[in-house]
Amino acid sequence: MSGASASIDPQGKRAIEGGVQIAFERCRELGMRLSRQRRMVLDLLWSEASHLSARDIFEKLNARGRHIGHTSVYQNLEALQSAGVIECLDRANGRLYGYRSDPHSHLTCLDSGQIEDLDIELPEDLLRSIEERTGYRIESYTLQLNGRPVAEPD
Ligand SMILES: [Zn+2]
Repeated sequence: MSGASASIDPQGKRAIEGGVQIAFERCRELGMRLSRQRRMVLDLLWSEASHLSARDIFEKLNARGRHIGHTSVYQNLEALQSAGVIECLDRANGRLYGYRSDPHSHLTCLDSGQIEDLDIELPEDLLRSIEERTGYRIESYTLQLNGRPVAEPD
């Protein structure tokens, strides 16, 4: 590997492969009870594969005929994020929850505010030079990218 270019895995497909079972397994390992409500919240996060507010999640579940209270949604999200099972992003307009808990990068659309997960691997030589400059051993990193969709030429 020359490490000359960064590798990008759009949508974080690698993490989706294991499915929601990975999250259920993680809860079991942590000794967290997998209540019906907790499964519903995890199922929704994994099937949406995006970053949603507690209100979005509540509304989507109820729209699918899954009856769950707003407080239950909120409490489950907080328990799952503090246990590190799901991702939580603190944004100016509130918290957003995502299904991934492994380090990954984000691309935020400056027009819509939509956030996409990206797996970006920086070239080895760049990481080494950062370590040399800072005196730290880099163990993980996440990148925050911001942009606007490129207009398709007619
Ligand atoms: Zn994310």
